[in-house]
Amino acid sequence: MKLRVSGLSKSFGAVRAVDGVSFALDAGQMLALIGPNGAGKSTCFQCINGQLRPDSGRVEFDGTDVTGLGVATRARMGMARTFQIAQVAVSLTVRQHVALALAARDPAAWRRLGTRGLRGAQEEVQAWLERFELAALADRPCLELPYPELKRVELASALAQRPRVLLMDEPTAGMTRADRRALMALVKQEAARGLAVLFTEHSMDVVFGFADRVAVLVRGRLVAQGTPQQIAEDPQVRAAYLGTTAVEEGA
Ligand code: ADP
Ligand code: MG
Repeated sequence: MKLRVSGLSKSFGAVRAVDGVSFALDAGQMLALIGPNGAGKSTCFQCINGQLRPDSGRVEFDGTDVTGLGVATRARMGMARTFQIAQVAVSLTVRQHVALALAARDPAAWRRLGTRGLRGAQEEVQAWLERFELAALADRPCLELPYPELKRVELASALAQRPRVLLMDEPTAGMTRADRRALMALVKQEAARGLAVLFTEHSMDVVFGFADRVAVLVRGRLVAQGTPQQIAEDPQVRAAYLGTTAVEEGA
């Protein structure tokens, strides 16, 4: 297992935001964490990536207990994340942005700038740009990009660091149906190469189109876990959540 969460709990005062949540994620799998607003999805994420310390429970990454480790340490171990609103250094060009991400993975490559090592790095940067359909935009400042392309820069930069687990909290928020499907298709392609992906998502077309497994959180508790098919048919899930949103396909 790439990621194993056991008995995770986190309260804010009297609010039990995450309450005894357990699930596991294997290499090559895409797991969608869904649930109504306030269900505890983001809190759960933040406990997994190290932004928040849970009150109890455990997070294991590749068999190592990382519950007490910080964000930067988990990132170095191979845990990457993207943000609900793409976080990109907008003054850089697309190429510079991905190159910096590569350098962050390998500080030695950074020191080789201007030498033969750089040419190798440039080829790798180019490969990432092509993989994420960014080659034509390579020399444009990120500032000029439309949002879906900016989101691809964020994703390419996260993945250029060669993580083994990718965490995405509402990756397609605010995107059109076509754009969110295009983005998730790129993520799926990385999963096919072995990346483990955990994401939260409100758009049911994305959940049912891309997740291998779905976990449903309601008021901090996991009420169901299974294949998209099992979740779609689960009466408790329909009553608690899907009943109101399953038909909401968005733009
Ligand atoms: P979701 O991402 O599923 O919408 P959240 O994890 O953001 O849910 O929130 C779960 C619950 O915890 C909500 O009741 C929310 O108001 C509360 N909460 C989240 N973060 C904080 C915080 N930093 N301080 C206090 N309460 C919080
Ligand atoms: Mg949230």
